[in-house]
Amino acid sequence: MATKKAKNKVKKVKAKAKIKKTKKAVVKREKKIVIDTNKLLKLEEARKYVIDVAGEKGLEVFEFLISKGEMEENLLAKKLKFEKANAIRKFLYRLYNKNLVSYRKVRKNNKAWYTYFWSANPGKLVFIIREMYEEEIKQTKKSMELNKAEDFYVCDICNRRYDVNEALQNDFRCKNDGGVLTHIESGKILEDKQSRIDFLNKKLHALDQLVK
Ligand SMILES: [Zn+2]
Repeated sequence: MATKKAKNKVKKVKAKAKIKKTKKAVVKREKKIVIDTNKLLKLEEARKYVIDVAGEKGLEVFEFLISKGEMEENLLAKKLKFEKANAIRKFLYRLYNKNLVSYRKVRKNNKAWYTYFWSANPGKLVFIIREMYEEEIKQTKKSMELNKAEDFYVCDICNRRYDVNEALQNDFRCKNDGGVLTHIESGKILEDKQSRIDFLNKKLHALDQLVK
């Protein structure tokens, strides 16, 4: 009798676990990220990054794949008016090297060659731009620490920095080239850097709004 009860209990626990598992799977599917690619592609930093990686034509390929979804390589080349199908590969590979696109290869009807299907990874671009903003914020904060001390002087020819005592000792002239030393208020610099950080934080927030 006791054994039967125990067995039932095990069954119940197992059933509960099963329900939990199914629920988890559903939640995971719902969490699939959606990116506002229209807004992403309007971001100057995003466009500039893709152009640096793959040129203007590469950006065109990337934008086209985003708007059309996965596409077979030859059809993609035709739609984008590349003279030869393999001319588009140069651009696709450059994008692929930065994970901005991915491919799937399919062998059709036992033929010797593969057919390539390409798609864009806009999420990777969001990730890269996010890292850019974060890196600049980090570097700006670091340089704010350096500037915190006090006002300083800078040579108007070679940009060499002098603290107040050094500048005084040299009659406000540069030791290297005799250039005039200009007074720099560190308060103003800190203010400018802080507003740059605020601006970048706003950009970060706006970027996160593109991902749902
Ligand atoms: Zn100088």
